Amino acid sequence: MMVSGHTGVFALLGSPVEHSLSPALFNASFEKLGLDYVYICHDTTVDSIGEAIAAVRTLNYAGVNVTMPCKTAVMEYLDGLSEAAELIGAVNCIKPTNGKLIGYNTDGAGMMRSIEETGARVQGARFVIIGAGGAGSSIYTQAALDGAQRIDVFNRVDDFYSTTKKRLDKLSALTSVSLELHDLADDKLLEAKVREADVIIDATRVGMAPLDQLSNVKEQWLTSGQVVADAVYHPRQTLLLRLAAKAGATSVEGVGMLLWQAAINQEIWLDVPMPVEHVRSVVFPESD
Ligand code: NAP
Repeated sequence: MMVSGHTGVFALLGSPVEHSLSPALFNASFEKLGLDYVYICHDTTVDSIGEAIAAVRTLNYAGVNVTMPCKTAVMEYLDGLSEAAELIGAVNCIKPTNGKLIGYNTDGAGMMRSIEETGARVQGARFVIIGAGGAGSSIYTQAALDGAQRIDVFNRVDDFYSTTKKRLDKLSALTSVSLELHDLADDKLLEAKVREADVIIDATRVGMAPLDQLSNVKEQWLTSGQVVADAVYHPRQTLLLRLAAKAGATSVEGVGMLLWQAAINQEIWLDVPMPVEHVRSVVFPESD
């Protein structure tokens, strides 16, 4: 990759960013496609996100991604939001458009593409989504926008539970999709909903260390014909995914969500499809 005076710059804003996979994903794509862009990271806190966005405008960045802890704080500095970003209340992708900065949220769309990549359909599917944090809310919102038949969301009952319930009710009224929130501690209900679901997604921290020996879903609840996805991507094969494979279900690794949200970002910024298989093989080699 040759960086010249013409090279366009994309960047990730958030903190910490030094271990982010985004530079590897995008630079592999730009290099393969022969696009004259480079992707870098800037450590940015909530306190400095306003100044960082001013710099994006001044320095004419080609586009930026935003990660924790700035995904919500960045919104007040933008000129417009996509429907998903507005509903989710978080932005992970910003595109300069006619002098304005428009915010998008592509995390949920990344998970939907990753599911559809298996040949499964999102439209008309019955979803169980476990976890209503950042990842979970982007996933249930996108599933509703994409026409899921019904979505049962499970989360532990905490201070945020009633806020999540209100969000689901609002989303349900907007999309006419049935969205219900349930207590994750209700094992019987979780089993019943998982048994009748087409797509089961775990968007909690369960599956990654130190919770890597745990699964919210039991193997005997799963059958072939179901799609089981995990947002966790380290490890790639979580206990949930190993149980799903044993039950004959289609398992979907969290790296797919990461990869496809990046691919969607590139489509938003440049209207050029990412060479997904090439990027996957470079950044996530099978032996990993
Ligand atoms: P978050 O906003 O902090 O939400 C964490 C979620 O996990 C909440 O629903 C939380 O429930 C739940 N949780 C945590 N510990 C739990 C436990 N012991 N039992 C049951 N539920 C538990 O974090 P996030 O950003 O949504 O990230 C969640 C996971 O998704 C992380 O592993 C992250 O690496 C992954 N992720 C992957 C991608 C991707 O592209 N593949 C993108 C974003 C995130 P409470 O509300 O009850 O605490």
